[in-house]
Amino acid sequence: MTNLTVEATELTRLYGGREAVSNVSFNLKQGEVLGFLGPNGAGKSTTMKMLTGNLAPSAGSVKICGIDMIENPKEAKALIGYLPEMRPLYKEFTVDEYLTIAARLHRVSSGNIKKAVENAKERCGLGHMSKRLIENLSNGYQQRVGIAQAIIHSPMVVILDEPTVGLDPIQIRDIRALIREIGGEHSVILSTHILPEVEMVCDHVQIIDKGKLVFNGGIDVLKRQRVGNKLLIGFNNIPSVEDILKIKGVTEAEITDNNMMRVRFADDQDQNKAPHEAIVQAAVKNKWGLYQIAPDQTSLEDVFVQLTYQDAAAETMAEAA
Ligand code: ADP
Repeated sequence: MTNLTVEATELTRLYGGREAVSNVSFNLKQGEVLGFLGPNGAGKSTTMKMLTGNLAPSAGSVKICGIDMIENPKEAKALIGYLPEMRPLYKEFTVDEYLTIAARLHRVSSGNIKKAVENAKERCGLGHMSKRLIENLSNGYQQRVGIAQAIIHSPMVVILDEPTVGLDPIQIRDIRALIREIGGEHSVILSTHILPEVEMVCDHVQIIDKGKLVFNGGIDVLKRQRVGNKLLIGFNNIPSVEDILKIKGVTEAEITDNNMMRVRFADDQDQNKAPHEAIVQAAVKNKWGLYQIAPDQTSLEDVFVQLTYQDAAAETMAEAA
């Protein structure tokens, strides 16, 4: 028995002959939180709609806990909880009334509805809001209600579209903690355009650009890309670029606007080959007055731009060939 909760295989969706999503494949396991990241128009919503059975793929398949979405849509959909970007809330109801309706819609048996509502409220920190009208709740609490309806039937897979958009920093912190907690039991897929959110909440990351996956891996792999193969070095008596380039392992060097030396070295996988020690030794020998040497962290934004840019560059090259 496999513990794969989502199997997306070569998902493709055409709109008017154009591929909005192209050949996207990935798997998700129980207890994993997957961040789905991409610029506007990349194909995130289209992919989510296919995963939740709201849009038929032009090619490819989706299986939820081994159940094929096209062959057995009812069974497959019953295993999913979904919070679309536009929250499906009926604001004239109280929290209890609305969650009771949501439980019925998700086919929770009548004997279990009360328990399901209580459980979802407790997990989402809504216990003290039971009798409040949804329209009178703050934005953050409305989002909790949206998440509560997505988990009310204890689905195996919870899919959340941009769950922290429009919230204030404290609400964002609370919702992220809630998502992590939900991820302990269920598989969670979360779309976002906020890179640090992915870093804080997710175990796995997928970056989609122009319908294609340009990154699919663990958050640790993404973080490693972020550290990269650059050092930022401060010298009181800054040497010339030529002097630094003589050091074994250094491939590029430049002086930054604030008079630091940025050094690039060859191999970002094997930190043993990095020239830190040789630089320190040369600094002592030549009295360069070294006062700082640290990894030059590429921001996640830079990693994102690099990944999406690489894709665009490869495409241009392919077209030119
Ligand atoms: P994202 O959610 O990443 O912003 P979408 O999945 O909404 O991206 O859109 C991906 C691409 O598909 C875009 O180029 C968009 O214009 C196009 N698209 C989305 N929905 C439709 C539709 N119903 N008809 C035609 N084109 C669409």
